[in-house]
This record gives sequence, C-alpha cells and structure tokens, in this order.
Amino acid sequence: MRTDLTFTIVKPTAFEKNYLGPIIEIFNRNGFKIKAMKLTRMNREKAKEFYAEHETKPFFESLLSYMTSGPVVVAVLQKENAIADFREMIGATDPAKAQFGTLRKMFADSKEANAVHGSDSNESAQREMSIFFTEEELFFD
Ligand code: UDP
Ligand code: MG
Repeated sequence: MRTDLTFTIVKPTAFEKNYLGPIIEIFNRNGFKIKAMKLTRMNREKAKEFYAEHETKPFFESLLSYMTSGPVVVAVLQKENAIADFREMIGATDPAKAQFGTLRKMFADSKEANAVHGSDSNESAQREMSIFFTEEELFFD
C-alpha cells in the first residue's frame, strides 16, 4: 500500500470562516501537493460511513450533525510520509492541546469544530478517499 497519500476535510466552520485559502497555502508550504479536491456537503449517511469507527462514542450524533451542517472541502494530498507529517501539521484533536503553529491551534473553534480532518493510517486514507472520489477523479502518478 502506498504511503505518500492522505485524505483531508476542511470542516464546515473553517470553510464558513473563509479559512480555506490560508489552510491550502499551509498544506503547500509544508510540501503537500493536491491530487484531488472538491467542494461538497455531506449527508447523514455519508457522515455515518466516514466516521463509522466512532459510532458508539458519546459525541457521535453531535459530530454527524456538525459535519452535515454546511459545505466542506475534501482533498487527497501527496507527500512522502504523508500520514504522519499531515497529522503533525494539524495538531491534536482538541485545539486547546494542539501545539502552536499547528492548523488546529490556528483555525479550530473547538474539539468538534477542529478545522481539518487528517487520515490516521494508509488504510484509512484509501478508505476515506474512496468515499468521496471515483477512480476517474484520482490522478496518481
Ligand atoms: N470529536 C469530538 N469530540 C471528541 C473527540 C472527537 O467532537 O471528544 C470529533 C472531532 O471533530 C474529531 C472527530 O470527532 O476530529 C474524530 O475524532 P478522532 O478521535 O478520530 O480525532 P482526529 O483523528 O480527527 O484527531
Ligand atoms: Mg481520527
């Protein structure tokens, strides 16, 4: 399985606040190339599938309603060691615990509305990108 791809979502609040431009700028500055990208709005079914691993968590219902509350931008990004480097760049799930200079520290409003998603493994990245993109939309070298 390839290790140079990750999947991201610029979440509803970050998009609404016009942080998309600054966030993409930081992706690029950190060496991530955009391989696929679209503006979309998740429905409940898609959000449930995407966050299936969290189905039993107390925050699940709130997370579904948040992630379907407005448009998001989904993207596949490419860089060597993509998963770990991207997770380091976005910072901890809770922005209160995220390091200075991380995207979540800079752009998140709360633990739920934490600006950006980043895949946690190569397997997750493959699963997540296939939820949002067709084979034809993925132009990999
Ligand atoms: N989340 C939440 N409350 C929590 C933990 C997570 O609302 O206590 C939300 C948050 O938006 C997070 C997402 O659920 O990004 C997925 O949680 P996960 O633990 O996978 O965090 P991540 O991998 O996004 O850092
Ligand atoms: Mg996660």
